[in-house]
This record gives sequence, C-alpha cells and structure tokens, in this order.
Amino acid sequence: MQYKAWLEKHQHKLQKILVKLDDKNLDEVISYFEYENMQTHESDFCPLYAQNIKCHDTEKLNCYFCACPHFVFDDKGLERAGQKIRYSRCAIKSKEGREYIHDNAIHQDCTYCTLPHTKAYINKQLRVSKPQILLIAFNVAVF
Ligand code: SF4
Repeated sequence: MQYKAWLEKHQHKLQKILVKLDDKNLDEVISYFEYENMQTHESDFCPLYAQNIKCHDTEKLNCYFCACPHFVFDDKGLERAGQKIRYSRCAIKSKEGREYIHDNAIHQDCTYCTLPHTKAYINKQLRVSKPQILLIAFNVAVF
C-alpha cells in the first residue's frame, strides 16, 4: 500500500476515535493513545498490537502521532537526488532520523526517532487549540 492510501485509512481511524473521545479533556485524550490502552481498546488501529510489538523500542509509546506531522512524502517522489528519487524526508531534520536507501529510492527512516511518540511532545502540539487536533491529525501543515 502506498503511503497516501495508508495515511487516508489511518486518519479515518484516528478521527473515529477522536469523535468518541469528544467529552474528554486533552490529558485524557493523550493518555488514551498510550500503546497499552490502544492495544486493549482499539485493536484495529495498528496491526502490531495483535503481535504485542512496538514500532519503536521505547517503554512509553504514545500512538497519537503514529503519522508524524513532520514526515513529508510524495508517493510519486519529492525530488531527484543524483540517480535516485527521494520519496520522503523529515521536515525538521531530526537527529534521530536516518535515510533508507535501496535500489533507486531514498526514504526517510524514522525507526530511531521517538519524538512524536512522547506525551510531552503531543501535549505541546495539541495544547494550541482543540480544532487543531483534527488539523494535525490530518497531517495538515500547521507548524
Ligand atoms: S525523523 Fe522523527 S520527527 Fe522526523 S519525520 Fe521521522 S518521526 Fe517525525
């Protein structure tokens, strides 16, 4: 599945949960997205829940920004980089980010970056205003 198709499907699932949590305060919303809680109550949000696997090796993993708002992509390619095509990159050039290069393609590799999965980061981003929660959830550039 290409990233755009995955993202649309993912955003739909996220929106459904946010509607369900409409009467909760921000702290409760963020806490709801903790890996262990999501694994129990939102088993179809991520296929890794069923395997009891985390996408990042960290004790406290929050799944709210599963789709990182700094992840820039284009399934048709963002730009040419020599003989290769770059399909994705990190908008903030996080030190934890890497490049994954294979054949003629360069992809952003977020394996070692836990920035969008920390409660502090999510809290900071979502504290701006509740309407922005949905904008951010839908990867609309607000930063
Ligand atoms: S490297 Fe980190 S901040 Fe950058 S796109 Fe990946 S997860 Fe987001």
